[in-house]
Amino acid sequence: MNETDSVYTDFLIVGGGPAGCMAAIRAKELDPTLDVTILEKAEISRSGAAGRGMDALNNVVVPGVGTVEEYLEAVEIVTDGVFDPTISRVIAERSFGILKRLEGWGVEFPRGKDGNYIVNQFHPKGRFLVEMRGELKKIIARETRKAGATVMNRHPVVDLIKDGERIGGAVALDLETGRLRAFVAPAVLLCTGGAARIGLSNTGYLHGTFDCPWCNGESWKMGYEAGASLTGFEYTARSSMTRDFNGAGQSTFIRHGAWLVNGLGERFMKRYDPERMEHAPAGIRGRAIIEEEKAGRGPVAFAFSHLPPETVDLIESAVFDVERPTMRDYFRNKGIDLRKDPVEVVMTEVYLCGGHGLAGLVGDAWGETRVPGLFAAGDSLANPYGFLAGAMCMGEAVAERVAERKAMRPEDPDTRERLERLEALIERHKTGALQVPLRDFEYKFRRLVNEYVAPPKSARKLQRFLDETEAMVRDQDDIPARDPHQFMKVFEAKAGLFCARMAARASLFRTESRFGLYHERVDYPEKDDENWKTRIIITAGPNGPVLEKENA
Ligand SMILES: Cc1cc2nc3c(=O)[nH]c(=O)nc-3n(C[C@H](O)[C@H](O)[C@H](O)COP(=O)(O)OP(=O)(O)OC[C@H]3O[C@@H](n4cnc5c(N)ncnc54)[C@H](O)[C@@H]3O)c2cc1C
Repeated sequence: MNETDSVYTDFLIVGGGPAGCMAAIRAKELDPTLDVTILEKAEISRSGAAGRGMDALNNVVVPGVGTVEEYLEAVEIVTDGVFDPTISRVIAERSFGILKRLEGWGVEFPRGKDGNYIVNQFHPKGRFLVEMRGELKKIIARETRKAGATVMNRHPVVDLIKDGERIGGAVALDLETGRLRAFVAPAVLLCTGGAARIGLSNTGYLHGTFDCPWCNGESWKMGYEAGASLTGFEYTARSSMTRDFNGAGQSTFIRHGAWLVNGLGERFMKRYDPERMEHAPAGIRGRAIIEEEKAGRGPVAFAFSHLPPETVDLIESAVFDVERPTMRDYFRNKGIDLRKDPVEVVMTEVYLCGGHGLAGLVGDAWGETRVPGLFAAGDSLANPYGFLAGAMCMGEAVAERVAERKAMRPEDPDTRERLERLEALIERHKTGALQVPLRDFEYKFRRLVNEYVAPPKSARKLQRFLDETEAMVRDQDDIPARDPHQFMKVFEAKAGLFCARMAARASLFRTESRFGLYHERVDYPEKDDENWKTRIIITAGPNGPVLEKENA
C-alpha cells in the first residue's frame, strides 16, 4: 500500500440510496465544513431499490389526514407487535418535512380535485401513502452533489475499520483499478439496503429478485462483525409479484382498489381476513395466496375490471410512467388489458429488509448502533415498514447527530491490519481452490433456503440448513474470483449466506408462529404473546452468535 491509499473523511456514508444521500445533504447543510464522503458500489442516480422508479411515498403522516399515534398503531399491526416504536416515531414526526423537501426539489406530488395531496391506504390501518411522480432518485442524486458531498461511485465497501471499541472507518474496493482503499472516519453510516438474494426466485434467475439484487446484506455482515446487534431475521419476508415480470405492483394495485382473485374468480381474502381484505398485513396476504394455490384454486391474480376506467388509467400511469416503464411492453406483448384481464401473481423469493420488513441493525433514535460512531439507516436499519420516507428521515437524523459531535480523527485505526488481511483474501480468491463457480455456490445455498428456511419452518429443517451450510462457510474464501467485479460478487454472496444463516438461527430461536406466512413454525403453530411479543437481538459472542429476547 502507498500513502494515498488511506484517506480521512469526517462522515463516511456506505451506500448512496435515499438514506445515504439524505444523510449527506443534511450533514452538509448543518456544517458545510464537514468532509462528507459517500462510497457507492454502483452509480447513485440509478442505484438501489429506489433506482427502478417509485410511484409513492408509502408512509407520510400528512397533517389533517393521519396522526403520529395512528401511524404507530399501523406499524404495530403489520409487525404483530414486535417493534421498537422509538424509530417509527422519529419517522412519523419527520415524514411530512421530507415530503416538503422533495417537493421543493421538483419531485411531483399530484393533487386531487380538492387541491390536496392524494393520500391512499396501504398499511392495514390509516392513510399514509402519498402519490408521487417524477425521477426521485435522479433528483436526490443531483441534490447530493449540489450539497458538496464527495461521491465515489463503483466503490463497494468490503470491511469496516475499528478504532479500539469505536468505529474508525471502512475499506472499499475501487472497481476500476482493483485497488483497496482505506477511509478513516470517526462516523460511519451503513445504508446498503436490505438482502435480496437469500431465497431463490421461482424463475431460478439469481438476480431476478423482488428487491435490488446487488443489495445483499453487506451492512449487516460488516456491522455484526464490528460488534453491532441485529434483529428481525426470523421475519423472512416474501412479496407478491407479477408473474414473469420482475417488478412489484402490489402496492400500486392494492391502494387503488384491485382485488385478489383465485382461479375460480373468487375474491378469496374474505376467507383469511374478512375485515381488511387486500389491506391485511403482508404476511397474512402472502399466506392466503399460497393457501389458495395449495387448495387447487390457483392461479391467483389481481383483478381490475370492477374499477372505474379513470382508476385503471391512474394505475397504468403510476406503473408505466414511473415504477416500471417496461411493464407497458410486457402487458402489450402478452395481450393483457387491465380493464378486462386479471394479472397473475406469484410469491417472491424469501428476502430480508429493514424498511419493508423487520430485519436490520439495531439503532437508537439517531440510528446509532452499540458500536460508538457506527450508524445505520434505511433498509439496513431495523425501521419496520419505514420504506422511502423512513430511509430519508433516518438519514437526516443520523446526520444531525454526526454534525452535532465534533469530528475527531480516530486515534489508532487498524487500517494496515485490515488492508493486509483483505489483500491476502483477494489473492486467495484469485487462486480459487474450490473449483466451484460462484453462481453454483450461490444457487446451492439459496435453493437450501427455499427448502429449509422458507416457511413452513420446523426445528429439524432449520437445523439441517445450518448443518448443510457449515461447510459452505468454510469453503467460501476459496471461491474463484479473478477480477474486482467478481470479488465484489463473491462478497455479496458471502453476505447473503451470512444473512440466511442468521435467518435460520433466529427462526429456530423463536418457538412460536407469528407474522402470518413469514414465521410459520409447523412445530409451534400457535402465537405466544406471553413469551414472544419481543424482538430477538443477535450479537457476536466469543463462540458465535448470541441470541436474546429484547425484553428478557
Ligand atoms: C420493488 C420495490 C418497490 C418499492 N416501492 C416503494 C414505493 O413506491 N414507495 C416507498 O415509499 N417505498 C418503496 N419501496 C421501498 C424503498 O425503495 C426502500 O425502502 C428505500 O429505497 C430504501 O433506501 P435505502 O437508501 O435504505 O436503500 P437502497 O435504496 O436499496 O440503496 C442502497 C444503496 O447501497 C448501495 N450498496 C449496496 N451494497 C453496497 C456496498 N457494499 N458498498 C457500497 N454501496 C453499496 C446500493 O448500490 C444502493 O445504492 C420499494 C421497494 C422495492 C424493493
